[in-house]
Amino acid sequence: MDKVLEISPADSLARVQPGVITEEFQRAVERENLFYPPDPASLKNSTLGGNVAENAGGPRCLKYGVTKNYVLGLTAVLPSGEILRTGSRTLKNVVGYDLTSLLVGSEGTLALITEITLKLIPLPESRGVIRLGFPSVKEAVEATVQILGSGVLPSAMEFLDQSALTEVSRFLNIPVPEGTTSLLILELDGRKEAIHADMETLLSLVGPRTTEREFSFDPSQMESLWTMRRQISPTITNLGLHKVNEDIVVPRSRLSEAVEWINGLAKEHDVKVVLFGHIGDGNIHTNFLLRPEQLPLTETLLTALFTKVVSWGGVLSGEHGVGIAKRPYLSLQLSQPEIELMRGVKRVWDPQNLLNPGKIF
Ligand SMILES: Cc1cc2nc3c(=O)[nH]c(=O)nc-3n(C[C@H](O)[C@H](O)[C@H](O)COP(=O)(O)OP(=O)(O)OC[C@H]3O[C@@H](n4cnc5c(N)ncnc54)[C@H](O)[C@@H]3O)c2cc1C
Repeated sequence: MDKVLEISPADSLARVQPGVITEEFQRAVERENLFYPPDPASLKNSTLGGNVAENAGGPRCLKYGVTKNYVLGLTAVLPSGEILRTGSRTLKNVVGYDLTSLLVGSEGTLALITEITLKLIPLPESRGVIRLGFPSVKEAVEATVQILGSGVLPSAMEFLDQSALTEVSRFLNIPVPEGTTSLLILELDGRKEAIHADMETLLSLVGPRTTEREFSFDPSQMESLWTMRRQISPTITNLGLHKVNEDIVVPRSRLSEAVEWINGLAKEHDVKVVLFGHIGDGNIHTNFLLRPEQLPLTETLLTALFTKVVSWGGVLSGEHGVGIAKRPYLSLQLSQPEIELMRGVKRVWDPQNLLNPGKIF
């Protein structure tokens, strides 16, 4: 089931089967001058069905929102074999409960999605990338807050902490400028003149805090400014340690404190930690890297991390979902009445617990 069934410029939507690869779909709609923004890092391999089931996000979600913001309607097969059609071909629809939204992010536990109607938006005319170095994560976080309060909304805003920067520069053999311990990579999109003006605004606003400033509008140079961010996952894998990969989200006002606290937690247990991710969303990819004898520490680290994050008003996961791995920690964030209601929803849709049993609950 990997066909794009329809791209309608008039209705600004597409109908797809769930096995379409995310990046291939994006290229297909771009040929029609249309845009499907959700961009999980896995987009070369992930399917739109998987993206919908997980409510996938990515760097561009800072400006454009996550997958759920683009799903207008679904066709799905219920465990009984009955076929369900939810939503519509319209942008607005407030008739009855929103079953489309309920299915998005349901991790394959409620129904099998067989067709997806996705909203499309106009393709931005051009892009520009800025890479900024900072002497500390604190400066990078303060610059983030300053930028997001400036009236300019970047389409992506990613960060690397000192350990991410050190490892990736070693892996790629790219030197880090003297005094830089944290990186921000920003992407802007829209009309060319507007991007130039926005870039000038941002550089004059946060430039004095930085140790390094580079920007480009040229596609291949922009890609090279993104390289360090894009190469973090291969870098971490190459270290040969066991990766416990979390994607907590904290309110932006807590980012600086969160980075410091997580580093303290790792130090306390003599564990390596690499932090990077979607700083504009407060979504920190937290990678504890454990030696084999440290594996029993996993539960202690995650319980401490999730408890702290929730105390800041944050959440256990911004993108990865609950699945099996985070199931034991669900009650750290959700109240008992919430969990009971969710279990009730599962019982109504899938009374025999046929679909992805053991996931979420
Ligand atoms: C290297 C890497 C990078 C990643 N980066 C990101 C990221 O930046 N942002 C992000 O949000 N996520 C990310 N992820 C997580 C994951 O790739 C995404 O959540 C993606 O959306 C999953 O799509 P998939 O096709 O791989 O789904 P799968 O892994 O095949 O399935 C995921 C879940 O969805 C269910 N499912 C799949 N298809 C359907 C269907 N048709 N109907 C009902 N249920 C279905 C499956 O049963 C399963 O429970 C990343 C994963 C990897 C491995």
